[in-house]
Order: sequence, then C-alpha cells, then structure tokens
Amino acid sequence: MNQFELEFHTHTLKYGGLYDHRSDSNCEIWEQLLELWKEAIRHYRLELTTAPDVNIFLINNLNVNACAFTVGQNHYIGIFVGAPMLLNALFREMLSSPDVLPVIGDISKEIRHPKLNHNQLTSVEHYFEASNWKKREVFPKDPLRNQLCQHFETLVMYFLVLHEYTHICNGHVGYSSEISGAAFYIEINMFDNPSFLRNEIRRTLEFDADNTAMSFLLDFILRRTAEGNINGESTNPLFLDPIIGTQFIVFALYSYWRLFDMYIHQWDGSHPPSPVRQSLLIDYILGYHLYTGGEHQLNEMRNRTKATVAEVEFAFSNISHEPYNPFGFLNVQNTEGNSYKINLKRHWNIVRELIEPHAYVAISPSTNI
Ligand SMILES: [Zn+2]
Repeated sequence: MNQFELEFHTHTLKYGGLYDHRSDSNCEIWEQLLELWKEAIRHYRLELTTAPDVNIFLINNLNVNACAFTVGQNHYIGIFVGAPMLLNALFREMLSSPDVLPVIGDISKEIRHPKLNHNQLTSVEHYFEASNWKKREVFPKDPLRNQLCQHFETLVMYFLVLHEYTHICNGHVGYSSEISGAAFYIEINMFDNPSFLRNEIRRTLEFDADNTAMSFLLDFILRRTAEGNINGESTNPLFLDPIIGTQFIVFALYSYWRLFDMYIHQWDGSHPPSPVRQSLLIDYILGYHLYTGGEHQLNEMRNRTKATVAEVEFAFSNISHEPYNPFGFLNVQNTEGNSYKINLKRHWNIVRELIEPHAYVAISPSTNI
C-alpha cells in the first residue's frame, strides 16, 4: 500500500477498508473502471482549474454506496465495490433479454432467463450467490448490446463519481468536517448520527451535488459524442447520434434511480427523492436540445424521453417481478418531491454562505430549480 492507500484504508476501515483489486481475478476490469472514473475527474478539472486533485479507491463493501472525505490536504472518493457490480448485473440482465430495447443489435442471439426476485435485484450478495450465478451466466450475446450494457454502467458511475467529487469541490466536505470537529466527513456515516447535520442543510448539499454532477456529466458525454469518442474507443454511429446518445443517458440514469428506490426501500429524507432527481435529469436534457436544436428538437426529445422512461419500466418488469407502469414517475403527483424543492429554495442562500469559505470552485447563486 502506498501512503494514500494506507490513509484511505485507515479512514474507511469501519466500512470495509480499501478493496485490493490487484489480487482480484478481475483486476484488469477494476483498473479500467478506475481509469474511466479518473478521466471524468480530469475533465471536471480542465473546466474548473481550481478544483483539487483527488484519489479514487474502491471500498471492500458489497453495498451500493460511495463517499467523499478529506484528511489534512488529501481528498478521497471511495466507491463501494457493490455499486459497479450491481449496476453491471442490472444492465447485463436487461440487455441479454430479447424483449428489452429490441431495435438494438441482433436479438435473435439473446435468450430469456428466469426473472429475478427483489433480493437478487437489490443485493449483490443475493445476485452473486454461487449457485445462482453459475446457473445464470447472463451476458448479452450480441456485441453491440454488450457494449451498450457497459456504456450504461459507465454513465451511471460517472454520475456517482462526479456527485462525490462535488461534495469536495463545493465545500460540503470541508464545512461538515469543521462543524463535526472530525477529521473527515463521509455521507454514509450520516446514518450513524442523524443529528450531525440538520436535515434541510444535508438535503441542499445532496441536491447541489446532483445538480453539479448532472451538468458535468452531460457536458462530458455530449462533448465526447460530438467528437465521436464514447468510452474512449467506440465509433459506433449509434452512440454518436446526439438524440439517441441522450436517450441512452436517460435510460441509464433513470434505471439507476429506479433501482435506488427499490434498494433503499424507504426514502431516508437525505438524497433527493427519485422523481426530483429524474426531473432534474430531464430538465437538463431538454434544455440542451432546446439550445442546440430549437423547438423541433425539444419536442422530439420530449417524446423520446417519455418512450425511454416506458422502456426502462418495461425492462424492470421484464427481468423482475416489478409491476409495469409505462409512465414511471412522469404521472406521479409527488408531494414529497414538491416540499423537498420548496425547502431547497428556502435554504439555498443560508447553505451557500456556510459552504462558500470551504469551496474550491465558484458556488452557483441559484439551485437551478
Ligand atoms: Zn451525496
């Protein structure tokens, strides 16, 4: 272990410590993933040159989570190994079904598998139970579908990494460390001590992290789409079309939040409720298409977004016993979400003053709601 790995390990021991991916049989895959995530951070730092350097490591824990903290001058992002593993499983299950996104690739090669139960879909341990895993061996057979599956996982992981990085850059970690008097702040240990940060402050920080991450994710992906360079290699025309490319972003992130809803069972009041996160995504996507293609492209994208939401909902009902609701959150009258937004607006100016002295980058005067 080098100095940073050791420091990271010491501070995350309670949650499993540093995951030694070099002794894993999938070492190369983990290396590639870490490299991709670092690339998203590099992009962020090119845009915001005052943003600090950060170390990204894996945590030996099968839960779907991540964290950010600072020790002295050293910044860290920890990704629980369960997050990429469960996302990978979700998208493999979806794309290996000939019923999901049937227009992509050659579905005649794909075969139907038994549906997953709730535990298998929401827990890496249950999904990867040796007997189940050996029996399933679920991978998309068509190379394009397999590639798309990895692309979806990458998009969601970019979002997660950028969300954690925002906690550092925008001063959330610095502010929380100061008021807690602890050497570091981790979003996961909020559950250990719920009174640590007043809920409305924490919600505002989470929304700020989502908002900034979304803006950078879209900028990063759409720029790479324009350059014809997705995942650092692909020149598949499907990935280079800005309309289809954005549909893929909606598919990936909507799937993640849909899974997150099932995973945490009950909204804990901290992270934005899924409908709020989803409407943030769609606002950004539609805004981008209005800007680049005008009203016509906006309407086209609006229709495709609705269709994509229905496709994700269908995919969930196809691979698991989840009921099929073609409208997803689009027809949900979400009072919880509305009160969440109102509270954010009320608190943004207070929170901004608290985090600004700890921030490495300029803090937005508005919350973009
Ligand atoms: Zn967060």
